[in-house]
Amino acid sequence: MLKSVQILGSTSGFLSLLWKKTYNSGFGLSFVAISANPLSYSTSSGTRGRLTTDTPVSPVLSAGKNGCFRSRRVYATRSEANQDGNVRRIKFCQLCGGSTKYEIPDGEEKMRAICTICGKIAYQNPKMVVGCLIEHDKKILLCKRNIEPSHGLWTLPAGYLEIGESAAEGAIRETWEEAGADVEVLSPFAQLDIPLIGQTYIIFLAKMKKPQFSPGPESSECRLFALDDIPFDSLAFSSIFVTLNLYIDDLRTGKLKFHYGTINKRPGSSPSDIRAFSLDYHLES
Ligand SMILES: [Zn+2]
Repeated sequence: MLKSVQILGSTSGFLSLLWKKTYNSGFGLSFVAISANPLSYSTSSGTRGRLTTDTPVSPVLSAGKNGCFRSRRVYATRSEANQDGNVRRIKFCQLCGGSTKYEIPDGEEKMRAICTICGKIAYQNPKMVVGCLIEHDKKILLCKRNIEPSHGLWTLPAGYLEIGESAAEGAIRETWEEAGADVEVLSPFAQLDIPLIGQTYIIFLAKMKKPQFSPGPESSECRLFALDDIPFDSLAFSSIFVTLNLYIDDLRTGKLKFHYGTINKRPGSSPSDIRAFSLDYHLES
């Protein structure tokens, strides 16, 4: 069953860009700058592949009442399972093992898990996910996940950054671990924040030092996909969906850029629905 996405606007002071999605057969991905706030969008039909719209050549935005804009509906077909980042409730103190209680500490505004034994406050902060987008012979290297979440779905080689390594080092390590590819990082390509699940993705463009790759334990398969064959219906995460769309769009416009954006899950949507999001605050170099 297809699901719709309502794309919500951004706060003032930022440039918000809305995807006008199209691809193949006259489709092409582009961005439309909008500045009204708040923004709301309604959408219509679309079926497969990348973000799709009902009539690719018709105007993307039209002004509605109260300064709102309307665009087309994009639909989701794929699940993104159990991506809860590091926002799990903390029951026990990591320092002494004591039970925690949730209270607002003096001088603060947020509820925190506080140890009932030693008083340590457990601060939860976003985690950084780092990975590589590797193009080889005009194809992109993807890994089929052999672990949950999103087992059996395709992703770029990426994973959590470890203490003691840089983002680039982490991306190289994850690529080696998941795809058996020894890569050289070329440039940063995208930073995508996902506030709801407490994650920030940093994806680098990279190239293989040797044209060799093989699936690691966390992957059941690694494969090079031509741009037109990327399995957009079988991608593991919203962040990968966005990254690949941005990359293909850049290629089609002839200039690779650096992208920053915030992926906001649509309120009320299933966390497993990788297309139920808006890309807000999209800035590009
Ligand atoms: Zn404690």
